[in-house]
Amino acid sequence: MSDCLFCKIGSGRIPATVVMQDDDLMAFDDVNPQASVHVLVIPKRHVTGLNDVGAGDHAWLGRLLEAAIQVAGKKGIAESGYRVVVNQGRDGGQSVFHLHLHLLGGRHMAWPPG
Ligand code: 5GP
Ligand code: ZN
Repeated sequence: MSDCLFCKIGSGRIPATVVMQDDDLMAFDDVNPQASVHVLVIPKRHVTGLNDVGAGDHAWLGRLLEAAIQVAGKKGIAESGYRVVVNQGRDGGQSVFHLHLHLLGGRHMAWPPG
């Protein structure tokens, strides 16, 4: 997807503060953080959102979650706690249509979300 913002970040065409990456995924700081730790974890392949995940996607999707857990450790919030969020579609509040996990921590999170 040549005009997708997160495809451009994932391929290095747009800079980001990268926390970790491998051939299949990238974790980088959110440009508008909602907590002292706010990292986005994306697959490097273009996937629009959770609705586009299928039976063949279990391995990389699991790896995405594992990366979020690893970043939580790296950022020092594993013990204090954190939240992992995926916003899907209009009511979910999705604004960038390339699947991403939000890793949020470093402050107490309210429940339910607004
Ligand atoms: P969504 O609303 O789709 O769940 O989340 C999109 C996230 O991407 C938002 O938290 C927003 O701040 C972040 N974001 C949007 N544009 C950029 C950008 O150019 N760079 C980075 N690092 N984050 C971005
Ligand atoms: Zn994309």
